[in-house]
Amino acid sequence: MGNMHGTIYRNGKKIDVGYGVPTTCEHPRCNEQIDRGLGYVCGNSHGGDEYSCGGYFCGQHLYGAPEGHHGNRCALCRERGADPTEDLEDAMVATFD
Ligand SMILES: [Zn+2]
Ligand SMILES: [Zn+2]
Repeated sequence: MGNMHGTIYRNGKKIDVGYGVPTTCEHPRCNEQIDRGLGYVCGNSHGGDEYSCGGYFCGQHLYGAPEGHHGNRCALCRERGADPTEDLEDAMVATFD
């Protein structure tokens, strides 16, 4: 269960994801140390989906998804609600070793 490490395309850029990849919260001006595990992702999976950006956020900046949705949402996506993102196609390209 669960991939320790993988590579996805997000916003046209290839990024490493997984529990073993350290990063900082993507919320503006937040420097909280986190990793790119699913526990910190905005959305239900790496790369996000039509309701989420796939960014990685600390517990302070990640909120529960609205009723009827899975995963978490960052502040922006939570406000945006169900609007689709323009990066949906990129977000769907995910490869895991
Ligand atoms: Zn988001
Ligand atoms: Zn944060």
